[in-house]
Amino acid sequence: MLLMTRRRMLLAAGAAGLLLPSMSIRAEEKPAGFTLPKLPYGYDALEPHIDAETMTIHHTKHHQAYVDNLNKAVAGTDWAGKSLDEVVKNVKQLPEKIRQAVINNGGGHWNHDFFWKIMAPAGKGGSPKGDLAKAIESFGGLAKLKEEVGKAAAARFGSGWVWVVPGGEKGLAVVHTPNQDNPLMVGKTPILGVDVWEHAYYLKYRNLRAKYVEAWWNVANWDAISENYDKAMKG
Ligand code: MN
Repeated sequence: MLLMTRRRMLLAAGAAGLLLPSMSIRAEEKPAGFTLPKLPYGYDALEPHIDAETMTIHHTKHHQAYVDNLNKAVAGTDWAGKSLDEVVKNVKQLPEKIRQAVINNGGGHWNHDFFWKIMAPAGKGGSPKGDLAKAIESFGGLAKLKEEVGKAAAARFGSGWVWVVPGGEKGLAVVHTPNQDNPLMVGKTPILGVDVWEHAYYLKYRNLRAKYVEAWWNVANWDAISENYDKAMKG
């Protein structure tokens, strides 16, 4: 009786063993790693300030390419299983062989994921609230913040981003970075970021980056930016 049971158990284990190869094949077929997030609104939702064609290409081509190239760069390394935040915050620890590819494409993925969330259809983004509203007042007011972001956008030669980060003498600082670099890579937490790559504005604004940045404020999602500020201050 006991032997029969043991034999059955062995048979069951053998059957389970046979299942394993097919299960692992299935796991390999599953798309692994980082994925393109859905936009929180339609491609035409930010019209007329950001046109639907720009949004479509920006999301489905540019952002998708960052995701795909990030997956390629980290494939076969421990970094493939980490969160996007962890990867971006720890770029300096990456093996040199893949570091620049991850800075470019991990940064690209993080920056765009962040960018979509800090925008909202015109009139739906609220206004700065709570502690962020106070910080903006200390900075010199919203008009002053917009002016400084505009200056940084003009100062950014070539492709890059303009960021607002908590900290500095005035409580908020406006900085700009090249390419897809990100303040997280140097230990700062952005609460707002404006993509000033030509792909973000050229179809509608042509060479007029300043006009695009001025129009961008119409689609700023202050509810999300205020939340980003609160999270950043909690550390
Ligand atoms: Mn972009």
